[in-house]
Amino acid sequence: MAAISRQELELPGWPQFGDEERGALIRALDQGQWWRIGGSEVDEFEREFAAYHHAPHALAVTNGTHALELALQVMGVGPGDEVVVPAFTFISSSQAVQRLGGVAVPVDVDPDTYCLDPAAARAAVTARTKAIMPVHMAGVVCDMDELDKLAADTGAPILQDAAHAHGAEWRGRRVGELGSPAAFSFQNGKLMTAGEGGAVTFPDAGQYETAFVRHSCGRPRTDRSYLHQTSGSNFRMGEFSAAVLRVQLARLDGQIATREQRWPLLAGLLADVPGVVPQGSDARCTRNPHYMAMFRIPGITEERRNELVDALIAGGLPAFAAFRAVYRTPAFWESAAPQESAEDIARRCPVSEELTRDCVWLHHRTLLADEEQIHLVARIVAETVAAVGSGV
Ligand SMILES: *Cc1c(COP(=O)(O)O)cnc(C)c1O
Repeated sequence: MAAISRQELELPGWPQFGDEERGALIRALDQGQWWRIGGSEVDEFEREFAAYHHAPHALAVTNGTHALELALQVMGVGPGDEVVVPAFTFISSSQAVQRLGGVAVPVDVDPDTYCLDPAAARAAVTARTKAIMPVHMAGVVCDMDELDKLAADTGAPILQDAAHAHGAEWRGRRVGELGSPAAFSFQNGKLMTAGEGGAVTFPDAGQYETAFVRHSCGRPRTDRSYLHQTSGSNFRMGEFSAAVLRVQLARLDGQIATREQRWPLLAGLLADVPGVVPQGSDARCTRNPHYMAMFRIPGITEERRNELVDALIAGGLPAFAAFRAVYRTPAFWESAAPQESAEDIARRCPVSEELTRDCVWLHHRTLLADEEQIHLVARIVAETVAAVGSGV
């Protein structure tokens, strides 16, 4: 493999930041009050984030995992309650359920979009199901038409794990206006970031108020007498994070526009590479913020896939092996495990089994590069796949 020298490839860095973030941090500093109760950055950020997602309310929290945990608690999930989660996701989706003593029930995903399969979700709902958690994988919004139908039929409400879906739309509607809470992450790699952070949008004022109290040790906003009304924890975001996130939010539209232009180009080029199948979309997902550039090498072994990722990194690409099915981790079995064995779950989740072995993703900063660079990225993938082989 001779052709490409690493010098030719120059991808943008992540996170992107500048004087705007610098100024915001100093503004927050100069308030002289660095927690949300004393300052105004978190309040302002919540208003701006809610408005951006066309949601009536947003609550900022410490991180995306806590966002899920808090939302589930507000939705009434407790010990022994079941929550349907995709088998193929980052572990927080199931871990948040298990932290509350709930049982995370993994179900399979679509082989093209890697999003929760509504039919599989329907088959997994029982009388104990308290919530259904679609994950908008890499920014592709799950089939919310079918999932909303499922929620209406079964009475099990939806919690969207929108950790990849800042600014995403389903049939022209933002994830904050789809009628269900949505949990976001602002961890360093996410589409907007303050290093750590999270938020939940709520369609319902009552849920938002409950969440506010619980995220602040069960203490109402104006309490001065330490009368903690409910259980809870401290999930409050600090002022510095919110100040940075307000600027990051302002950058988001421009970045999404660039990624929405670059992904069709990259996906088209990757689709021409023998053995490579890029992630598909759903025509009803009318805006995809593109959290990852994902593709599969169907039939490759897990070992060979990992070699391929190493070779892509050696070629200068920010490449990663995709998630392993949640039930394939020791973490999943530590507490509140389902009755089924891993083998039983695996039999129900053949696509997640395949994705655990054959899926690769490139960091979204790849999609902020110019078109010439996108061609180079595709060439590196093509040459690397040819050199490593698919192992089929
Ligand atoms: C990143 C992520 C989370 C958790 O977010 P943190 O802020 O890292 O806690 C939850 N779900 C999914 C699908 C994620 O990718």
